[in-house]
Amino acid sequence: MQMKAFCCFPQVCTYITTMSKENKTIYEFDFSLIYEHFANVERQGPGSPEATIKALSFIDNLTDKSRIADLGCGTGGQTMVLAQNAPGQITGLELSPEFIDIFNRNAAALGWQDRVKGIVGSMTEELPLEKDSLDLIWSEGAIYNIGFERGFNQWREYLKQGGYLAVTEASWFTDERPAEIHDYWIEHYQEIDTIPNKVAQIQKAGYIPVATFILPENCWTEHYFAPGSVAHEKLLNKYPGNKTVEEFVKYQRYEAEMFRKYKEFYGYVFYIAKKI
Ligand code: SAH
Repeated sequence: MQMKAFCCFPQVCTYITTMSKENKTIYEFDFSLIYEHFANVERQGPGSPEATIKALSFIDNLTDKSRIADLGCGTGGQTMVLAQNAPGQITGLELSPEFIDIFNRNAAALGWQDRVKGIVGSMTEELPLEKDSLDLIWSEGAIYNIGFERGFNQWREYLKQGGYLAVTEASWFTDERPAEIHDYWIEHYQEIDTIPNKVAQIQKAGYIPVATFILPENCWTEHYFAPGSVAHEKLLNKYPGNKTVEEFVKYQRYEAEMFRKYKEFYGYVFYIAKKI
């Protein structure tokens, strides 16, 4: 299960799981390789500072005393944007200790070590946070690790009444879509669904759906694929001729190709909800 630490995208998760079943050596190498790749990029999933700030604009209850948690925070690209644009204490929770080291170094470099802390923990377990204590839970590109509905149901307990939950989640834009992209996603993340269906799940879990918006294309191209390509070149140069590196890069390029081909059918959506 530890290999999940570096699954930053449902597709990458499935890739590593498949490789690990086939050959343990490849799995062990992938583990450090994928860490190395994602530690080299500022964000581990699609997103942008502008999208984080836009989502934050729907949240109106924050003060210096607020308590915020960023679940599956990665190395904290979006957490630092939150810290810059919202008051309160922020706890980042992340499965990977290596990512948390980078997170805490980044927070200290910005002088925020007293209000922004990264801790190692898993969202599949009871969270190391007090029940009914949080004003805001944030989670960009990470709720898929436990599933959207489960996340909304379980995380609600940790929010104060009137507290907010803001997440990004892979979603279909249309009721129907070409089989190739449908099958590709269903293989990796069965909970992908249309925006109205996701909103209905939010309502059912005991929240008011406050806002949804589709992450603009540059959240993928400029902030996810482009830095990813630079990191790929680094890896390819560092491990010339290495089959695993080549395959991993090929796989990630395929992911980018799928997006270019089918971006009008799916994407990441910000969902902002308020606990009733
Ligand atoms: N929020 C960051 C990272 C998204 S990638 C960003 O938007 O850039 C998903 C993150 O979830 C990865 O950092 C991965 O290590 C983390 N993760 C995977 N399983 C987890 C779990 N069970 N508990 C906490 N974090 C987990």
